[in-house]
Amino acid sequence: MNPGRPQLLLFDIDGTLIETGGAGKRALERAFADAFEIGDFEQRTAAVEYAGRTDPGILAALAQALGVPRDRFEAERETLLANYFDGLRTLLREDHPSKRTLPGVVPLLEALAPRPGAHLGLLTGNMEQSARIKLDAFDLNRFFPEGGFSSDHADRREIARAARQKLEQHLGQRFAPADVVVIGDTEHDVDCARANSFRAVAVSTGWVPRERLEAAQPDVLLDGFEDLPAVMTALLPGSTAP
Ligand SMILES: [Mg+2]
Repeated sequence: MNPGRPQLLLFDIDGTLIETGGAGKRALERAFADAFEIGDFEQRTAAVEYAGRTDPGILAALAQALGVPRDRFEAERETLLANYFDGLRTLLREDHPSKRTLPGVVPLLEALAPRPGAHLGLLTGNMEQSARIKLDAFDLNRFFPEGGFSSDHADRREIARAARQKLEQHLGQRFAPADVVVIGDTEHDVDCARANSFRAVAVSTGWVPRERLEAAQPDVLLDGFEDLPAVMTALLPGSTAP
């Protein structure tokens, strides 16, 4: 880290900024089940893990669990994705008890956004369209001009690389790896930071238990974003508290 130097802060979406109340998972599953006319979908895909995975990775795992051949999957891919985005928009309009912006997120983003030393971006396993649809439902797109998505690359480590490159281009400014911070709720977020020599800030607000995050050895492990001064210090080392 370089205290006082501008930091590029790359935020994960699901489990870090928001909880969709399962809308993402349900929309993807419905689109998939419809495209391939599959029954007993839930039982057959119960072992597929979603947290921290990229959308292409999840789709490939679903196809494998259901025995959908690759060529058939590729032939249906565009229709499936269009139905997924539509379904996501619809489901996110519905009320759900666990559909929410996570505690402290909006005050944190509002505190970071005007700071000359803080630049915000996205780093997510969502495709750009699904990311924007999800953030729109919570009015959070306004904080994030650009980001890395699984429509850029299917591998999260490469998404991290793309995120930095796209933000540098957008901002007209370079960031040393030590000045790029990845903020996420799973060990996959920590891993993609490590692979690029970025800093990793893990937050145990998602599905991954704290012990599993600890084992991934992030630079900082937060319980959430509610303690604003502590979070600002973790994200912007060397800066004064808000
Ligand atoms: Mg996440």
